[in-house]
Formats: sequence, C-alpha cells, structure tokens
Amino acid sequence: MSAPSSKIPVKEVELDANKQRIHPRFVTGFYQNIRVVSMYFFLALFLVLPWITYNGRQAIWFDVPSQHYYIFGLTFLTQDFYFIAIFAMIAAFGLFMVTVYAGRVWCGYACPQTIWTHMYQYVEKLVIGDRNKRIKFDKAPLSASKVGKRTLVYSIWLLLSILTATTFVSYVAGTDLMYQSWQSMNGIPLPDWPTWVWVAMFIFTFATYANAGYMREQMCVQICPYGRFQSVMFDKDTLIVSYDYERGEPRGARKKGTHPEDLGDCVECTMCVQVCPTGIDIRDGLQVGCIQCAACIDACNDVMDKVGYPRGLIRYTTEHQLVEKKKSKILRPRLFGYLAILTVLCGGLVYALTDRVPLEIDIRRDRNQLSSTNAQGMIENSYVVKLTNKTQAEHNYRITLTPVEGLSLQTRFDTVPLTAGESFDMPVSIYGDPAVVSEGQTPITLTVTSEDGQYSASHQNVFTTQGQ
Ligand code: SF4
Ligand code: SF4
Repeated sequence: MSAPSSKIPVKEVELDANKQRIHPRFVTGFYQNIRVVSMYFFLALFLVLPWITYNGRQAIWFDVPSQHYYIFGLTFLTQDFYFIAIFAMIAAFGLFMVTVYAGRVWCGYACPQTIWTHMYQYVEKLVIGDRNKRIKFDKAPLSASKVGKRTLVYSIWLLLSILTATTFVSYVAGTDLMYQSWQSMNGIPLPDWPTWVWVAMFIFTFATYANAGYMREQMCVQICPYGRFQSVMFDKDTLIVSYDYERGEPRGARKKGTHPEDLGDCVECTMCVQVCPTGIDIRDGLQVGCIQCAACIDACNDVMDKVGYPRGLIRYTTEHQLVEKKKSKILRPRLFGYLAILTVLCGGLVYALTDRVPLEIDIRRDRNQLSSTNAQGMIENSYVVKLTNKTQAEHNYRITLTPVEGLSLQTRFDTVPLTAGESFDMPVSIYGDPAVVSEGQTPITLTVTSEDGQYSASHQNVFTTQGQ
C-alpha cells in the first residue's frame, strides 16, 4: 500500500453476502464516553417525551386519526403541514452544516440506528460475553447452553423492540390509549387497541428487531442514503476520523518497549478493527461504512499509551492538516451559506408561528343553488362556515358580517362553544335586498371572534344574485 499523495484514500464499498456477523469489542475512552452520554440522552428523550403533559394533554401527540397534531401549546391541523416542511428543511440544512464541519457526527453519536444497534450488541455482551466469546459462541455446535443463551438474547431484544414500538406508536395513538385501555380475553388481560394500532405495533416491533438485531451496519453501509452522499458534503476542512498513514506505516508487530527503525507507529494489533461497529479497517482510508463513532481512536490511543508512543495515530483531523500539512479553515463559504439558509428558515418559522392565529375559518357555499328568493322577496345565499378552535382551551365564538349596504347575516347560532381542537360546521345565510344590492357578485367578509376578544379570523367570499 503506498502512502497517499494528494488526499486521504477512499475505499469503495465491498458487497459481501457471506461476510460474517460483526461482533465489535466494547471500548472505553474520551469519545466513547461522549458517545454513550449522547446516545442515552436521545434514547431517554424518546422514551420520556410521550409522558410529558401540557395543559392536561399529552404535550407531543400526532393524533393522525383526528388529524390534530399537538406540540406543547400549539395545535396543528393537516393544512398546517407547511410548518412540518419548514421544520424538515431546518433539520436537513442543520445536518448539512454539521456534516460540512464535523463529518458524520450524527451517524456516530445520535442516529437511532447506531443507538439501537449499540443497545442490542450490549445485550449480547451481557449474556454471552465480550467479542472473542461471542465469535466462539457463534461457531460452537448447538448445545442446551447455546439455545438457552440465544433464547435469552432474543427475548430481551423482543422486549426492547416492543418497548420501542409502544413508545413510537404512543406519539400517534396517545399514551392513554396505549397504556390504559385493557380488555379481558378468556381471563387474559390484553390491550384494547384498534386494528391500526395492532398493525403499527407489529410493523415497528418487527422493524426494530430486524434493524438492530440483524441489519445493523448493513443499514449504514448499503441502505442509508445519508452515508452515500456524505462525500458530496465533505471538503478538505471537514473533520474526519483518519489514520495517520505517514506515521503508522510500515505497520508491524514488535517487542514491547521497542521501536524498530524500519517500522512506523502502527503495531498491527488490529484493535481499531476489532472495536469498529461496522467492521471496517480505518487504515484502508475513508469509507462509506465509517460512521465516525471514534471507537478506533479510543482503542488506538489505549494501545499507544501501552506501547509508550504518542496518542493520535488515528484521530479526528482534516485532509488539509493530515495530507497537505496546512492549517484547517473553520470559517468557510459553504458553512456561511448553510448558516444563511438556516437563519432565513428559522426566522421564517418563528415569524409564521408567532403570526399564526389559532382559529381556522373556512367558508363553503351551498353547492345546490347559488341563490334563491324567500317569501319576503329577499335574495338568499347559503354557506357552511367551518370553524376550528386550534387553541388548547374552550372558547365561545361569534360570527359577524362586515357591513355591506343591503346585506344581512342570519344564523341559528348566537355563539358556538368549541373545546380545544374541536371543529364545527355552522350553516349561515346572507340575505340581500334586491332594491339595494348590486346585480352580480358582491364581495363579503365573515369574521369569527372569540367572546373574550382574544382570537379573531376572517374569510372572504361573494354574495351573488345569479342562479335564481
Ligand atoms: S489500533 Fe492503532 S496500532 Fe493497533 S492496528 Fe490499529 S492503528 Fe495500528
Ligand atoms: S472506522 Fe473507526 S470511526 Fe469509523 S466506524 Fe469504525 S470505529 Fe467508528
């Protein structure tokens, strides 16, 4: 292998259907401590969030069946989905910006695939033992002990998958439905869930089990699109986990406490490969399978400490520093570009949220007849006004017509009480005096106001004399 001349070597993905199951060695160290804290923080957040209540309701609840989506004090309806679109764009550009600066930190420190895989591998470690024992265990012939340990691992995986699915589905079905509705079937207590919840539970349990138990690194290497387009986002100043080729090569074993002159600093202990959750050898160069978890950095630093060489043979560095021996530029045009887009998107989201009136009004006219004439000779137009209370409290709403000469509003409802998130179709009629109102179409504005005057929303339509 020759030393890289212009850039960090990049190794293509190898598709190997017969590749053996990867059993990474668990390692401790500076980056692994950060990683464990970060992973379990996100895991705890995922598990705890559905249990937080706000104004007596689940604080984060995407109630798809009723098409109401609650995020703390805000209620969104399906037509508010542009907020989700803006939020998704913010998340995407945030991820791009972080990737340009620090590579695949998301993959290594926060991605659910990484977190769940780590958790499932840890279960194997607890039940079967560390890497060598797990490899030996895989190769061992079938025995009662092997069946027992496998059954225990699979059972814990299944419990974790069910817990994951239950938590995930409770963001949609609500914790009340998930945990409080039970029925007895032949004396066996069973959750009283609607069919779609059972289906969702099955899908998410299966997906979690298959992903974290079996797919693991294959998901990152073969399927995840983010890993694939990372190379487009990386530049020469992006922080990446790299092996210092010049310092390490030629690699080779040696007696403890010695440093033969014809060898580099890599003692060929393969610890960096043994701890890698995706089973790659970082010494081969940058690879799509590297999720930048930095386990190899901690492992190699340990080895360097033991043999008395300086740390950092594998380290976070940039192509500018490692290959071109230049100083890395932290502030660069691409980062500013992403920052500018993020600022605009965040500003737009904050503006849209603060400017938003939590009251929806929509007017549909009676489709059967544009207008009719009543017994008193007045021209009548009929409408259905759909009101939606998007606040988190009950309010009484009153409807009014912006005055237009010759037009008057009539409705059976003086005020309409609506609970939080409730919608109501209110039939209203507008009467026009044929002696006053103009021929053809007259613009009208209907306004709905809460009785306390806090919320008000208007909608425009037309009054017509046609169709009689
Ligand atoms: S852990 Fe370090 S010394 Fe050991 S093989 Fe990997 S790079 Fe070489
Ligand atoms: S090569 Fe190193 S940083 Fe990359 S995935 Fe493997 S252990 Fe993690």
